[in-house]
Amino acid sequence: MSSVDQQLDELRTEITSELPSDISVSEVKYEGPELVVYTRDPKEFAQQGDLIRQLASKLRKRITVRPDPDVLSEPRKAREQILSVVPEDAGVSDLDFHKDTGEVVIEAEKPGMVIGRHGSTLREITKEVGWTPEVVRTPPIESSTVSNVRNFLKQERDERRDVLERVGRQIHREEMSDEEYVRITTLGCCREVGRAAFILSTPETRILIDCGDKPGAEGEVPYLQVPEALGAGASNLDAVVLTHAHLDHSALLPLLFKYGYDGPIYTTEPTRDLMGLLQLDYLDVAAKEGRTPPYDSEMVREAIKHTIPLEYGDVTDIAPDVKLTLHNAGHILGSAVCHFHIGDGLYNVAFSGDIHYDDTRLFNGAVNDFPRVETLVLESTYGGRNDYQTDQDDAERNLKKVIKETYEKDGKVLIPAFAVGRSQEMMLVLEEAMRSGDIPEMPVHLDGMIWEATAIHTTYPEYLRDDLRDRIFHDDENPFLADQFNHIDGGEEERQEVADGEPCIILSTSGMVTGGPIMSWLRHLGSDPDSTLTFVGYQAQGTLGRRIQSGWDEIPIDDDDTGRQSTLSLNMDVETVDGFSGHADRQGLENFVKTMNPRPEKVLCVHGDESSTQDLSSALYHDYNMRTFAPKNLETFRFV
Ligand SMILES: [Zn+2]
Repeated sequence: MSSVDQQLDELRTEITSELPSDISVSEVKYEGPELVVYTRDPKEFAQQGDLIRQLASKLRKRITVRPDPDVLSEPRKAREQILSVVPEDAGVSDLDFHKDTGEVVIEAEKPGMVIGRHGSTLREITKEVGWTPEVVRTPPIESSTVSNVRNFLKQERDERRDVLERVGRQIHREEMSDEEYVRITTLGCCREVGRAAFILSTPETRILIDCGDKPGAEGEVPYLQVPEALGAGASNLDAVVLTHAHLDHSALLPLLFKYGYDGPIYTTEPTRDLMGLLQLDYLDVAAKEGRTPPYDSEMVREAIKHTIPLEYGDVTDIAPDVKLTLHNAGHILGSAVCHFHIGDGLYNVAFSGDIHYDDTRLFNGAVNDFPRVETLVLESTYGGRNDYQTDQDDAERNLKKVIKETYEKDGKVLIPAFAVGRSQEMMLVLEEAMRSGDIPEMPVHLDGMIWEATAIHTTYPEYLRDDLRDRIFHDDENPFLADQFNHIDGGEEERQEVADGEPCIILSTSGMVTGGPIMSWLRHLGSDPDSTLTFVGYQAQGTLGRRIQSGWDEIPIDDDDTGRQSTLSLNMDVETVDGFSGHADRQGLENFVKTMNPRPEKVLCVHGDESSTQDLSSALYHDYNMRTFAPKNLETFRFV
């Protein structure tokens, strides 16, 4: 008998002895990080409100209880009973019964009402019908990404369960080594922005954190071929953890599956959906630019199938010697600071991913409170000694000034923006500015994937700042549904009409002017001296955005009809309004470290230009007397 089977056997005996005699246990299994307990008495289980929680804390495991398939009531009857338990205001739109696992997925406009106080309505459902309910939100703005991901996972349910069972056994395998060490190897994004990738390794386990591309330098990918990563084969990796969906962190994850990786990706649920959206777009853009993409859309689906979503704050076993906890990073929807607890109290490492320290209109500021942390791997995008950003109020004032001046000239304001994050922040600023009369009412056109990304935001309001979440819960106050927002879905013709029309604001991808519909807007508006191109986000070195910002006014552009390159003379005003970045500025990064609890012993400054990482590293050393580093790519640090 394998050690995992033996472990499950012992768990079954222990659980049985903890339960009242009228509750039987027919099987216990691992599915990913969860322990699934099958019973013939699901109703009795649910009667004892606190039983599952008590078991979970006693066994220190995440526990799910499921009924044996043969004790289940008829789905048709169960449906009626469920609908009579759940309040009508919950807006249940779909019930999906899965006989093999005894689960029923309930889709509702207001999931909170299906869950009830501390899960009371969910327990009521199981008491009535025996099925195990799972609740998902009906997106208030229809999102094709969310529905595609949900349908795909439904269709792949069996295969996904196989993956989860395999991963579960992998996580709970017996530890083989009695050596102790913790190492981090840098595979990218050191002294540069982009291609984030790190390996965290112990004698037992190898975890890849992020796997991104480098905007403006498509050939430069993370050093995956080294022995610490895929050099020793794809099965060398135990797990992948994704901090957030931006392509400089996620673009090359599907490539792992092409190389034969078959393990889990841990991240939040919104990051899973956004990652799918952005990766498919990445393939699209590559194809349009005549590049051969490194993988195809089938690999994006594999990545989604292997994703195990975690909520902020859940402590999760991801290897025999590693526990992972995700915390809000304040950067984009679902973004996470990833905290790893290694061994039994041996060592703790936190990877910041990209962070925003202060609250923004969209998110609460990044979490920097941990039970323990010895090493912090910290982003340094704005770590340079002069990288102080305008505060949010001034930033908004400056933006409104640019808009008013352009409006008075009868021009248009063109804002290149990341589809995810800055666009939604802009939408909130513009909606309020027009509502309060600070700027004239005018249409705001959203081009590229911005509308779709916004729909995903409204699907996961619990990841947004508290007051914004409350507004989204009330349809008539949902700021993203305001009248002035227009989704450009008619292509070139509609763009031409907008370009010939009244003053307006256009938000368009890509955020660093590296392709996408923004190129088409530049063709339409680039020669108009009354219009303004307004940068509101970080422009990486080597991108067209950075070049325009630094004064280029002759820009190479593909001619739309012939595909030939020509040169466009840029006569638009070019403005940069800073203060809207999704990243903490120098002050924010220092504050994150200064107020961190506990303060780490060591900091690795990564994900920034060479001078930014070095500046930040030396400042943290001088101000807080910690050991700091500005690593290069392909360095390995040993911590224990
Ligand atoms: Zn990011």
